[in-house]
Amino acid sequence: MQSEFKNEALTDFSKEENARAMRAALDKVRNDLGREYPLVIGGERIKTGRTFDSVNPARKTEVVGRFQKATEELARRAVETADETFKSWSRTLPQQRAELLFRVAQLLRERRHEMSAWMVYEVAKTWPEADGDTAEAIDFCEFYAREMLRYAAPQPLVQIAGEENELRYIPLGVGVVIPPWNFPLAIMAGMTVASFVTGNTVVLKPSSDAPVIAYKFFELLEEAGLPPGVVNFMTGSGAEVGDVVVDHARTRYVAFTGSKEVGLRVNERAAKTQGGQIWIKRVIAEMGGKDAIIVDADTDLDAAALGVVQSAFGFQGQKCSACSRAIIHADVYEPMVEKIVARTEALKVGDPTLQTTSMSAVINQKAFKTINDYIERGKTEGGRVVAGGGADGEEGFFIEPTVIADVKPGATIEQEEIFGPVLAVIKAQDFDEALAIANDTQYGLTGAVYANDPTKLERARREFHVGNLYLNRKCTGALVGVHPFGGFNMSGTDSKAGGRDYLGLFMQAKVSAEKVRAGYSDKEKRGVI
Ligand code: NAD
Repeated sequence: MQSEFKNEALTDFSKEENARAMRAALDKVRNDLGREYPLVIGGERIKTGRTFDSVNPARKTEVVGRFQKATEELARRAVETADETFKSWSRTLPQQRAELLFRVAQLLRERRHEMSAWMVYEVAKTWPEADGDTAEAIDFCEFYAREMLRYAAPQPLVQIAGEENELRYIPLGVGVVIPPWNFPLAIMAGMTVASFVTGNTVVLKPSSDAPVIAYKFFELLEEAGLPPGVVNFMTGSGAEVGDVVVDHARTRYVAFTGSKEVGLRVNERAAKTQGGQIWIKRVIAEMGGKDAIIVDADTDLDAAALGVVQSAFGFQGQKCSACSRAIIHADVYEPMVEKIVARTEALKVGDPTLQTTSMSAVINQKAFKTINDYIERGKTEGGRVVAGGGADGEEGFFIEPTVIADVKPGATIEQEEIFGPVLAVIKAQDFDEALAIANDTQYGLTGAVYANDPTKLERARREFHVGNLYLNRKCTGALVGVHPFGGFNMSGTDSKAGGRDYLGLFMQAKVSAEKVRAGYSDKEKRGVI
């Protein structure tokens, strides 16, 4: 019997022994920066001669790892290898696959700080952000392993006289897993392990901004005993080889997390039937957000300001769940803006390897430019910059945490996902208007409401159209099993990662009905005696 699932505790870095262990991991990883990594298809390590670099966003001259650009031919080979391996892997017992996943969780636990350290260098996560990412990856492994055992157990069906009926969940086939860079361990691992624990085989194409951490995880899967070809590691441009693996006729499903634009493209391409294709591809797509926190007049303003600032600027605002809009009741608008500004100005932007840093660089040059353009756009559309606004792209891609007040509903920065440290503050005349503003975007991922009045909280439960709603707390930090995660509308297919429905998306249900024959006991029938 497995113990009950429990979330992995976060590391308390105020304890000197933990801080020391993290510093040691950072030193160890620093000595390992700049290595070249291969593609791995069917266990074979392949170099293509065409490479790209993953660089440290906080020190852009520092190469974290060098990766292969896969060719179209290798991309096809990755799908075909996964397809071949599916024949054997799909026949392994669910219990065996779950056992393997428990081993992966254990290895992650043993390498916890090392995995986090890679994220500090590769995507500029601060210590607690990186630690949270690793803890979530462990949670996904522990949770989905138990979930597989639950799905593999006899499923309840209505039984009728004269028949023995059974429903079994069986795997789908080859899954293409396309993760984003912002939870480079947790989301990448979550979609990958959900795929293979259910008996599928995988082509994993990590983001070009975070391939090292994906490779480190891949190595750990091998170490845990995952046979060659079950997960195939393929790097390269999403636009070049992404289309090839999504389009392939032997691809059975795509598990995607990323932007709305790419998600819609994947969805459209997967919907087109290719020559020789004998199924409708499934697409599990989790996409962007334009998440809002509503602050009512009657509430604890200090708690609200803390929740807004934590949700807006954690990991530089680069979370799909980040608060990018604070919608504030007119009666408390000015004091709330002041409180938000005070907390924002206390954030320390800098080198993520230092324990004292609370915010670091944004992911790359393109994001640096786009985010700065949005700040300019916010100003030209009438917004008032009340905190931050500055940027320094000299050493790394640093942008100050920026608060823009007096943003009008419908303004560009109120509607479009910025995915950086920019908070739009909007005034609402009353709670009705606040809800209307909150719901008036294409997205529906997370949201929060700070209010004392229980009738308003209940209205939010009914009317705030988001997949993950938080009441009197921040809108980031979903926990596996506790807050199954996924959004509505253009935020995606509401797959609810970390929830009980999730593994069902990676399987199909097969029902068998057997007529009971007289004179046969159960055991005889099953060939046991
Ligand atoms: P992105 O869409 O730019 O890239 C996501 C992945 O798609 C990457 O691996 C990329 O290489 C790949 N890709 C690009 N073009 C492709 C193509 N033509 N075919 C196949 N794959 C292709 O997103 P990103 O910048 O990595 O991540 C940030 C985005 O992810 C934000 O919009 C954020 O809101 C979203 N996100 C959503 C969730 C969620 O659960 N809803 C979680 C994390 C991030």
